[in-house]
Amino acid sequence: MAAVSSSSLLNKAVRQQYMSLSQGGKCQVTYIWIDGTGESLRNKTRTLDSEPKSIKDIPEWNFDGSSTYQAEGSNSDMYLVPVCMFRDPFLLDPNKLVLCEVLKYNRLPAETNHRASCKKVMDKVKEDCIWFGMEQEFTLLGTDGHPFSWPTNGYPAPQGPYYCGVGADCAFGRDIVECHYKACLYAGVKIYGSNAEVMPSQWEFQVGPCEGIEMGDHLWVARFLLHRVCEDFGIVATLDPKPKTGNWNGAGCHTNVSTKRMREQGGLQFIEQAIEKLGKRHNEHITVYDPRGGQDNIRRLTGHHETSSINDFSAGVANRGASIRIPRQVGQEKRGYFEDRRPAANCDPYTVTRAIASTCLLDSGEEKESK
Ligand code: ADP
Ligand code: MN
Ligand code: MN
Ligand code: MN
Repeated sequence: MAAVSSSSLLNKAVRQQYMSLSQGGKCQVTYIWIDGTGESLRNKTRTLDSEPKSIKDIPEWNFDGSSTYQAEGSNSDMYLVPVCMFRDPFLLDPNKLVLCEVLKYNRLPAETNHRASCKKVMDKVKEDCIWFGMEQEFTLLGTDGHPFSWPTNGYPAPQGPYYCGVGADCAFGRDIVECHYKACLYAGVKIYGSNAEVMPSQWEFQVGPCEGIEMGDHLWVARFLLHRVCEDFGIVATLDPKPKTGNWNGAGCHTNVSTKRMREQGGLQFIEQAIEKLGKRHNEHITVYDPRGGQDNIRRLTGHHETSSINDFSAGVANRGASIRIPRQVGQEKRGYFEDRRPAANCDPYTVTRAIASTCLLDSGEEKESK
């Protein structure tokens, strides 16, 4: 039996009695933010007297940054600035989820708040109408850290039947994926699709197309929903880019990109231009494609298991062993989008989309922009 949390075994019928109580016209708003790890999310809830109609109706708040790896205890208050509002699929209407930026005591962005600099770049390239779609791969684990449904001793049958698989011997934990999908739709997160992945108990959902800053906002909230759904089921979703060494696929966050010109007739030439620019800044991109400057991705980008080597830049039509893939249909229609396959599953979508937008569309590139 898989190790599941005690919380998931609490009596849900009892819970339901309370969940169906009326809430007297008040509104519960759950504030969500990225903590000092740059990977984990935190959240806390407060009451508003009425339902907020837009993000402007949600007040700033604060939290104790010394408990989230974000501040010293002696000067620990951090600001939460609401940036994006969603419906709450757990507490239901009229309650809200709100993604926040974190500011320090001096109102400058916290170290792991990469939204602020991403937004600056996205505002500069507004006329290009840059769209992103990110493919979030993840792996389900028991609370003991062992892959969900893998034999306690030993390994499952080798990779082959699991990608997009069906059946009790091929698909493990589909409940999570289906519930997460519904939660995203209810919330208003732009989920695009989902599928079972190559490694058993590994799955993917996609978010997009999203324009500019919206990509990071929607992916972070989609990740919050994933962790929250998993919590209900008593298991864990990890975004580790290589949860199992050996002959098992890693987990990425392929990033699909297009500008208005790329989407129009003959747009392939602009895709090729963008790829040429990306090739000149390969190393800079690798340092922002995972939260540890490439140290996580080095375990994944081996040149095997449908990846390119972390040391080389390559591009090709329908090539899943390249850094950049041009989908076959895009090659045929000579317009559309390209896929950057390098970002790790645990990347910050704000740093990834910022780097791509500035390299492809700003002369100064990423280096100057991030300062
Ligand atoms: P793959 O074949 O690599 O597995 P997926 O079907 O998993 O691709 O994901 C495709 C992604 O591409 C989705 O996130 C979708 O939103 C995104 N996408 C589709 N069209 C565009 C476009 N024109 N520009 C940017 N992203 C796009
Ligand atoms: Mn995919
Ligand atoms: Mn995939
Ligand atoms: Mn892909």
